[in-house]
Amino acid sequence: MDPIKNQVKDLKEELIALRRDFHEYPELGYQEHRTAQIVEEYLQELGIETHRMTQTGVTGMIKGKTEGPVLMLRADLDALPVQEENKVPYASKNPGVMHACGHDAHTAMLMVAAKVLVGMKDELKGNIKLVFQPNEENAGALPMINEGVLDNPKVDAVVGVHIWTPLPSGTIGLSAGGVMSGLDIFKILVRGYGGHSGYPETAIDPIIAASDIVLSAQRVQTREISCMKPTTMSFGKIEGGTKANIIPDYVSLEGSIRTLYDDGDDKAVLRLKRIAEKVAEAHHCECQMEWFRENIALINDENMVKVMMSAAREVAGNEERVVPHSNMASEDFSEFAALVPGVFIFLGTGNEAKETHYPHHNPRFNIDEDVMPMGVELFVKGALSYFKQQEAISKREEAEDLSGDD
Ligand SMILES: [Zn+2]
Ligand SMILES: [Zn+2]
Repeated sequence: MDPIKNQVKDLKEELIALRRDFHEYPELGYQEHRTAQIVEEYLQELGIETHRMTQTGVTGMIKGKTEGPVLMLRADLDALPVQEENKVPYASKNPGVMHACGHDAHTAMLMVAAKVLVGMKDELKGNIKLVFQPNEENAGALPMINEGVLDNPKVDAVVGVHIWTPLPSGTIGLSAGGVMSGLDIFKILVRGYGGHSGYPETAIDPIIAASDIVLSAQRVQTREISCMKPTTMSFGKIEGGTKANIIPDYVSLEGSIRTLYDDGDDKAVLRLKRIAEKVAEAHHCECQMEWFRENIALINDENMVKVMMSAAREVAGNEERVVPHSNMASEDFSEFAALVPGVFIFLGTGNEAKETHYPHHNPRFNIDEDVMPMGVELFVKGALSYFKQQEAISKREEAEDLSGDD
């Protein structure tokens, strides 16, 4: 007999209805006006005071009866520019826009978790900051941080849950350390000297130089970075030349680098820059490289994983259904986790029989709604587990202070 599980079970219909409504009316990043309003009204009805941040972001506080730390629970609101191909009654009514990453479920799960937590206010030994973040697919976390989402009151820890089709339905993916990759996007311009293909000695051929750069760059991954530090480097676009018998003036190369660890000052992208410049020089070419960091790596805090592990095992009902998981996609939750201890949990929803095994961002993406109550439970039980641990730590510290006075 688990009262929280039972309560969430009773709210399952409401949970699914909320998700299907968001699914039917998906909104792109920073256009989540309808979604944000529904979230706001729902929280206000629960007696939670709400605030707006970065236009369509919604936050609310649940104050526990006892003073204690502030735990932030985060969901994301935005959909993607994808045309839905699912033939379900709640398919997207907005042409070319679709919840193809499961953020509709995240929003619904956190709303219902808020309802359960409000009902347990008197038992909470701390405060919950609910954060519904806009524009996850395009780095919406940082603007919220800049507007102070982690302050007033100061957030002590953060939890996020992502519905995940690569994991089987009902399993929970939870690991310490790097769980989603950092992402750098780069562009290299290799400039030569155009000319006639019959007289290559009168030209400087940027195609040869660019080809050499593409091949030489592979050694960053295989010979300069430990194989214990997962790194991918891919060129996604090569452009140069106009005709078969002309040596072009320049070639441009574009690509991405992903790392499943915090690369600090030893950035793979700077190693690529060094190789590109030296190789270009060997070919008498000039080389310019630009890059920007789209996401930093998402690193799960060891203690927060410990806190969530007991909750996850309880939610999954079987410890074998809590599995280690990391992947090379990116998430802007990493920005929160870089500033306060954070944990990001993957909730498996892959089930071929239910056709919920399609990849994220695919036009056939869909989720197994039967796992959504587990997401609600993860938020609720994770919060209780966190407050319990923090209370034990502060009690231990108090006892140590007292014994220190002797
Ligand atoms: Zn996504
Ligand atoms: Zn997502």
